Amino acid sequence: MDHKGVFEALIEQLMQLPGVGRKTAERFAFFILKMPSESAKKIATAIIDTKEKLFFCRVCNNMTEEETCRICQSSARDHQKILVVEEANTLAAIEKSGEYKGLYHVLHGTCSPLTDHEGGNAAVKGLIERVRNESNPILEVILATSPNIDGEATALYITRLIKPFGVKVTRIACGVPAGSDIEYADEVTLVKSLEGRREVYS
Ligand SMILES: [Zn+2]
Repeated sequence: MDHKGVFEALIEQLMQLPGVGRKTAERFAFFILKMPSESAKKIATAIIDTKEKLFFCRVCNNMTEEETCRICQSSARDHQKILVVEEANTLAAIEKSGEYKGLYHVLHGTCSPLTDHEGGNAAVKGLIERVRNESNPILEVILATSPNIDGEATALYITRLIKPFGVKVTRIACGVPAGSDIEYADEVTLVKSLEGRREVYS
């Protein structure tokens, strides 16, 4: 590959990242080109390490270095509560606050008949399995999906699927501005909306 091919390949790979268009990818690529070799290698190694050492928890889909994440393994947590989030970074923000002691379920996106995708379907199936499992009865499922169209559709979809199991389903309050993406809410807002959650009846 000539130098142009190498540089173009880097740009193309960077463009795979969300929100990175050609212009931004080029800017990153030039930045990397000018970086000390050691710094650039650290970026590459961090990416490889992430892919080799991190997995998704087989129970809740949270990021973990083991088969089951620390939260799912912890006896200090309330195993009767599941907080459903779209992305692992919402989980991380809530964990940072230390205010929530239950378990989680990460959907890795939204999922409803409108926004169907394979990963989301598997995640919802996994949640139903957990609710169904009688050896560990779940008393409450808290839906913390975004207050936008996809998030609301997901919440409704999940409510309809798990209500028949007799589980209490709650939805976080509107501390998070309607129409926004919960990913960008700060910890304080998240905790407040969690405290103000209300039961939903489908
Ligand atoms: Zn887990």
